[in-house]
Amino acid sequence: MKSVYSYRPEWYTHILSDPVSYQTSPFRICGNLFFVGNKDSATHLVDTGEGLILFDTGYPNMKEYLPQSIQQAGFDPKDIRMIFHTHGHFDHFGATALLKEMSGAVTYLSAVDARMLRQQPEMALCHYFPGYPIEILIPDEELEDNDVITLGKTTVRCILTPGHTPGAMSYEISVEEEGKRYIALLCGGAGFNTLNREFMEETGTNWRPLFEQSLEIWGTMKPDIFLGNHTPQSKTLERHEAGKIFIDRKAFPAYVADLKARYEKMIEEEG
Ligand SMILES: [Zn+2]
Repeated sequence: MKSVYSYRPEWYTHILSDPVSYQTSPFRICGNLFFVGNKDSATHLVDTGEGLILFDTGYPNMKEYLPQSIQQAGFDPKDIRMIFHTHGHFDHFGATALLKEMSGAVTYLSAVDARMLRQQPEMALCHYFPGYPIEILIPDEELEDNDVITLGKTTVRCILTPGHTPGAMSYEISVEEEGKRYIALLCGGAGFNTLNREFMEETGTNWRPLFEQSLEIWGTMKPDIFLGNHTPQSKTLERHEAGKIFIDRKAFPAYVADLKARYEKMIEEEG
């Protein structure tokens, strides 16, 4: 196992050098569910009535923007009770230490990814931000497939969907709007940067069979609301700017069909 990988998608250079250009205003997605992330890494906030839950905290070089964004959305970062992470990559836990310090929130990650970070912290892909100091996430609580966590009126169900990392976790989140209850699905991670040949050969991993199983699991799901853990995945900003509502049971199946087609094309090209 090499401790520093050479493989690094080129767009991260821009994200590291120009974090300001990724900032955007927070907004309500539906009922008690809010978008407080940036143009690339998604952070979602749920107001449970008994405190706030946050899902992912984005890039380490954008950490100071997240408390501001939460405040702009009308909330106090001190009220965060739980922080869930979709997977153990540096671009999903960048502000976790800061927000935990501000709020005392309990942090969550799948047990599989927690083990990965303990044993091989380089797998957090911090080398995408060369020279930038990053604190590796050590979660307070480790999650298993099918775990259900409740806070106030909100229920979070964990669905293990590995492949992008060995323990990527998707979350089904109950959302309330005007007395109606909806299910939002936050996808646990689907980037091919850990599934391509170059990464596999460098690290000696092969998570493709896991990813193919996860594609099957996602293929059975039709959530009311689809949330990507990267903002462009679910076209969150486009949808908001176009004034479209987020309740759309076709959105996730369409994403999964596209993901499957892109994955098959990569396999065909790379063998
Ligand atoms: Zn990732």
